[in-house]
Amino acid sequence: MIITRFAPSPTGQLHLGHAFSAWKAHGFARDHGGRFLLRIEDIDPGRCREAYVDGIVEDLRWLGLAWDGPVRRQSGHLPDYAAALDRLKRAGLVYPCFCTRKSIEMEIAASGHAPHGPDGPPYPGTCRRLPAAERQARLPVEPHAWRLDMAAAAARAGPLAWHDAAAGAVAATPELFGDVVLARKDAPASYHLAVVHDDALQGVTDVVRGEDLFAATHVHRLLQALLGLPTPRYHHHPLIRDAAGRRLAKRDRAATLAELRAGGADPRRILAAFDRTSASGAAMPI
Ligand code: GLU
Repeated sequence: MIITRFAPSPTGQLHLGHAFSAWKAHGFARDHGGRFLLRIEDIDPGRCREAYVDGIVEDLRWLGLAWDGPVRRQSGHLPDYAAALDRLKRAGLVYPCFCTRKSIEMEIAASGHAPHGPDGPPYPGTCRRLPAAERQARLPVEPHAWRLDMAAAAARAGPLAWHDAAAGAVAATPELFGDVVLARKDAPASYHLAVVHDDALQGVTDVVRGEDLFAATHVHRLLQALLGLPTPRYHHHPLIRDAAGRRLAKRDRAATLAELRAGGADPRRILAAFDRTSASGAAMPI
């Protein structure tokens, strides 16, 4: 049974780019007699808003993209992610990081030759090198994130690959990201950990999502190996663009579904335009 999902983070209103992704995932499931799930990725209490969750449900209903079964809210499952992190702690593959954003920036600037990763310069590894006694002393009293010891994790997992519908077999190169954060100071899990956990738990066979998340899949593949989870097939689709060729972003108010709905747009015409865009690779006429 094919299972796909749409997994938005409720940090803003959905725009046409999100709708395109949801339509793709929905269509893939429907074409294969499978299931299409809706998951709300609301692990970051600082950025997620309940009003945006309501908006997601309203937008998908308006578009006619019905999901199967209950909606999973990540905020209701934080102990699951903590348990996954505990496994990595026991395996000695994560370490506490006491750095602040500012201290990391300063260290990278001072080093003068930071290599660039897919999400910007990788973490310089400061807290990985802390003496064990200092780490133990600071742990109970200082706020900290948890980072993956990437070199150790990649060595433990060995060579890995994953399959992308467009790119074919892809060798995983998570090392490019450096020591990614798996639990934050203010949020008990990161996107990478929660997404991998939930895709496995929900039996997702095919992850259909935008190509902006292609690189993150290297990290996801590694976490699957470390946690003994299955690897879904991936379908990273091109992002839809406006007439000027720019990708749509949350700043483009005109392209939010709420705005389109309020303006009397016809959802069937939007889906028909997706169909044409998808077939031809042309820009979305908005
Ligand atoms: N929650 C992620 C986002 O809104 C997407 C997760 C995914 O599709 O893997 O960017």
